[in-house]
Amino acid sequence: MSQTSGYTLPYRSLGGLIGDEEIGVLQEVLTSGEPLSQGRWRERFEGAFSALLGVRHALSVTSGTVALEIAIRLLELAPGDEVITSPQTYQATVQALLGTGVHVRFCDVDADTLNIDPALLGAVATSRTRAIILVHYGGLPAAMNEIMKFARAHGILVVEDCAHALGALYEGRPPGALADIGCFSFHSSKTITTLGEGGMITFDRDDWAERVRRIRGNECDGVYRETGGRLTEVPKALYPGLAYTHDCLRLRAPGTNATMSEPAAAVGLVQLRRLAALSARRRRVAERIDAHLAAGATFRPQVTPAGSVHGHHLYTCFVRPGSGVDRDALVRALEERGVEVWLRYFPLHLLPEWRARGHGDGECPVAERAWFDEQLNLPCHPGMTDGELDRMLAVLDEAVAAVRPRSGTHVE
Ligand SMILES: *Cc1c(COP(=O)(O)O)cnc(C)c1O
Repeated sequence: MSQTSGYTLPYRSLGGLIGDEEIGVLQEVLTSGEPLSQGRWRERFEGAFSALLGVRHALSVTSGTVALEIAIRLLELAPGDEVITSPQTYQATVQALLGTGVHVRFCDVDADTLNIDPALLGAVATSRTRAIILVHYGGLPAAMNEIMKFARAHGILVVEDCAHALGALYEGRPPGALADIGCFSFHSSKTITTLGEGGMITFDRDDWAERVRRIRGNECDGVYRETGGRLTEVPKALYPGLAYTHDCLRLRAPGTNATMSEPAAAVGLVQLRRLAALSARRRRVAERIDAHLAAGATFRPQVTPAGSVHGHHLYTCFVRPGSGVDRDALVRALEERGVEVWLRYFPLHLLPEWRARGHGDGECPVAERAWFDEQLNLPCHPGMTDGELDRMLAVLDEAVAAVRPRSGTHVE
């Protein structure tokens, strides 16, 4: 339970996420005398991650945001190109495109899942569409078969924002291995964490792996040609990067330092081993909320399509319009009773920076209706005890009763 939030039931908590094993491995790394950057822990974490996903490359970086920024660089977009994304995601998904000449088109979501509605892609895509950057909202895999079929037919690359999706499955396969690039976050609110901040970028292409290694390692992202030139007497290891062996034909962009530290990677490795248990606990919490809500008529659930396993980063449900319950009044009633509610996410196209680029009300009516009138995200994290869960469900019933009109002004 949070000591600082003032809520009896905080939206999220670190409880259950960090345990003795994480503290043990930190002790091991910190007392090993080995360098705290660019060592064997990072390699082991990346190796375990790529094996889990079944992809050729998993390269760690300092955050999910940086993973997405680098993914966008790999796409080599030009001014005038277009990218399709979801309005129902965290701003980091396409923030790197703000201030560029690349045009973002928001594809509205499916009302049952809050993932991109693949039936709308045809209307949103144009001849300039180069990429789809989608999110598996809340940990529920997007409709990848339909999206990939559309993308492949039109020569469009697909990036999965998997910040919520670790532990999820789509037809038996993990997100991050379902499209061209996967981007993960290990922020402390996510399924696993690497000391609060961290990220991973996943794909199969070897040429991209070379570019990501250069970008995250403070070298440049360029197009090079071997010079065939001879090294001097001094060993090559003493020259930076490709000095003396290559010419730079074209610079795409300078690199940066996005190296995950050894303590972070070591904790990530331990967390990955605990992933199944952490996911199982999330699932149990979500299933109990599902069962409780299904017994009443106030809420409609987020629908998990057949063949998908939900990662349960967020617990999402919707107030039924005919239930007589006003969503905003319900949120206030929950907050007054100590249950912290976050509505995730404010429709991205309505943020001021995107409105300044011409986006606005009515562009994604399904996402807008969900966020403004129906959507509710309840606390769901592995640290919740059965007692806390019982208490939350009791408070939810109480809050619904408190805001439901007493006179028969509605029909159920
Ligand atoms: C958390 C999150 C990110 C960013 O990850 P950070 O590690 O916090 O930078 C990106 N996209 C989504 C959907 C997220 O929830």
